Amino acid sequence: MDNDQDDRSSMTPPPPVDIKGLTQADLVAFLAGIGKERFRAGQILRWIYRRKVCSFAEMTDLAKELRSELEARAWISELHPEAVEESCDGTRKYLFRLQDGHSVETVRIPMESGRHTLCVSTQVGCALGCVFCHTGSFGLVRNLTAAEIVNQVCAALRDGPLQNLVLMGMGEPLDNLDNVIRALEILYLPEGLDFSPRKVTLSTAGLVPQMAELGRRIKVNLAVSLNATTDAVRDVLMPINRRYPLRELMAACRAYPLAQRQRITFEYILIRGLNDSLQDARRLVGLLHGLRAKINLIPFNEHAGTSFRAPAEETMRAFQTFLLDRGLVAVRRAGKGRDIAAACGQLKGKLDGVRQR
Ligand code: SF4
Repeated sequence: MDNDQDDRSSMTPPPPVDIKGLTQADLVAFLAGIGKERFRAGQILRWIYRRKVCSFAEMTDLAKELRSELEARAWISELHPEAVEESCDGTRKYLFRLQDGHSVETVRIPMESGRHTLCVSTQVGCALGCVFCHTGSFGLVRNLTAAEIVNQVCAALRDGPLQNLVLMGMGEPLDNLDNVIRALEILYLPEGLDFSPRKVTLSTAGLVPQMAELGRRIKVNLAVSLNATTDAVRDVLMPINRRYPLRELMAACRAYPLAQRQRITFEYILIRGLNDSLQDARRLVGLLHGLRAKINLIPFNEHAGTSFRAPAEETMRAFQTFLLDRGLVAVRRAGKGRDIAAACGQLKGKLDGVRQR
């Protein structure tokens, strides 16, 4: 480094560190940098994630001098919903305004068992442009930071415990791989929220190289948004298929490391007259041959601005029966939160529309 550069950097104050974006190893390194012991990291994480404290001043088992030092060098970010809508089936949708003015949605979904799943966003907008998806129509605005991903979970936990997380909200998680992996590491922290990787599912539209990298770097359940059984139809529904066609996608699924009894979930949105025939069901059986798979059948969630329609009830039943009869696990997912448009991106579109008017 030359002297000029040295002078410039010595004049620039260090950027405040957001503790919410740090893994335990990062926090230990940060503390070591200011001459503090590694066990302090556990203390700080427990205050933040277990006791839900958001200021260093409240961390009463840390020395006063350490608390002031932390205040000078770091901060603890939070998200609070700007709007919450609750559906008659108990689905709750949060709209979070981010520091730079952009917004994302997070959806808390009650399950039949009385448990709750949180659907988390990973990007503002999305670059992949799936034609059935409202978020895709915005294009990609930016990636969420790890802290912004973690903070959606922390905010929803204020409304009660969560048993499962799905990275299935706005954005393609594998298009923001480093931040998503960091967020998962933080969510898994035993001293923190301590989510088990078995309770967390990442859903991808099929970014094949990143699927392999994900499997190498972290444990998480994989869901693949499939939605078609031929390249011709999938090319139209999900443009990413033109880059990574079905043959490559299914090979990546076969290579994904699975623990014993773990399955890959395949989401299949049934759209009337497009992908809901028995020939599609037959091709689906072929595509999944030999894979430990579970299929979620989801009726298309009709909304303004699309000509796609939900399938007829009999068609859906016949499709599911065809799969079940051939030994596949095929579950019909109830269209939760329909009255509050809980399909991804719809709350944001609605609220932003209201704001513009
Ligand atoms: S379905 Fe997912 S990957 Fe496709 S455009 Fe929407 S957010 Fe992006």
